[in-house]
Amino acid sequence: MAPRVAVLSTGTELLRGRGTDTNLATFARALEAVGLEIRYHATCGDDFGRLVDELKLAAARADIVLMSGGLGPTDDDLTRPAIAEAFHRGLEFRPRLWKEIRARFRRFKIPMAAINRRQAEAPEGSRSLPNPNGSAPGFELEADGVYVACLPGPPREMKPMLDGYVVPSIVKRFRPSREWRLWEARTIGMAEGDVDVVITRIIKRHGCGYGITAKGGIIHVTVKGRPAALKRVARDFRKAVGRAFLCEGEKRLEDVVVGELLKRKVTIAVAESCTGGLVASRLTDVAGVSDVLLEGVVTYSNGSKIARLGVRAATLEAHGAVSEQCAREMAEGVARTSGASMGVATTGIAGPGGGTREKPVGLVYHAVHYRGRTRVERRVFPGERPHVKERAAMVALAMVRRELAE
Ligand code: ATP
Ligand code: MG
Repeated sequence: MAPRVAVLSTGTELLRGRGTDTNLATFARALEAVGLEIRYHATCGDDFGRLVDELKLAAARADIVLMSGGLGPTDDDLTRPAIAEAFHRGLEFRPRLWKEIRARFRRFKIPMAAINRRQAEAPEGSRSLPNPNGSAPGFELEADGVYVACLPGPPREMKPMLDGYVVPSIVKRFRPSREWRLWEARTIGMAEGDVDVVITRIIKRHGCGYGITAKGGIIHVTVKGRPAALKRVARDFRKAVGRAFLCEGEKRLEDVVVGELLKRKVTIAVAESCTGGLVASRLTDVAGVSDVLLEGVVTYSNGSKIARLGVRAATLEAHGAVSEQCAREMAEGVARTSGASMGVATTGIAGPGGGTREKPVGLVYHAVHYRGRTRVERRVFPGERPHVKERAAMVALAMVRRELAE
């Protein structure tokens, strides 16, 4: 059986919502690469008694306990004494560690507080793990048949220690078999429930496990299974969802869109009103986009829509700036004035003010002009201003993708 892994995060700031536990994801991904999964995770404040309790609980539930944080020199850094207490052993002062810590402070010419001496202490029987990116060394030990590793809290210190020492150590000790893998795919334009029906039918057929989440209109599916079964899952899933299939793996929508534009050598220009440049911004998050993105303009006022895009004053007068007609003329105008083969436009009411009965807050028109034809999509998004902008940009990118897929 695969060894069970427990992760313990410490830090009161994590419980106060002042910091996010990114170390958990770092642990999970590093372990996944060697075929291990976390069974249990807890976040504990900087409190000695609770830390000892959590350590004992984790050790009772798992074969591997990974802990991050609390290795600093201050009074709220309690990992060393908590480990000593939980696993019935003393702390010993290690002159060699002390020498290294002092040398580090000298090297960076930082004055050292007397309390830093604590960082040269380690639980008896533990092996110290070097920390090239910080002053706090980590350590690993074997306690009551459980492997325990303690790493620093700051992510840039924690990750190198995890990759460099802890994961290799776990692999050597436990020799986990890599019989399962994770396969990920994303869909767009399909309801989560519908994707769920599809994927559950498929994984039952091939004997795999799965997880599904929706993020910003995109459905993420993760399937766990043997490589041969995953191949069949991938084939069946792709077939079942058809056009809604966005990508395998962890690509973003903009990665897929820019990839398609590059593949087909289609140039693009964007005219944005309510999204304020978000569509162009997301496109420019992708390296290599300069080969296809000609320009992005934020035409916020009526005057700007007329002057830069050639939207007709009569259109604005008759239908308003937030209208199917205006979106259409914006997309056509930006393609024409930039010389791009594809023009994309957004215009809407991001709120919170400015809504009416016919044109409520959250109403956005999206237009894509391509190959002599312009498509417009009308959507009403719930939520606050940033959310409306984000969803509108997403829909615009999704329309570009659909246009290219056809
Ligand atoms: P230091 O020597 O900096 O005190 P430490 O090992 O004692 O390091 P903590 O004091 O627990 O670690 O945390 C230091 C900082 O590291 C926190 O303020 C936080 O920004 C970050 N950090 C701690 N734990 C996590 C975590 N689980 N995920 C992401 N960041 C974390
Ligand atoms: Mg600290």
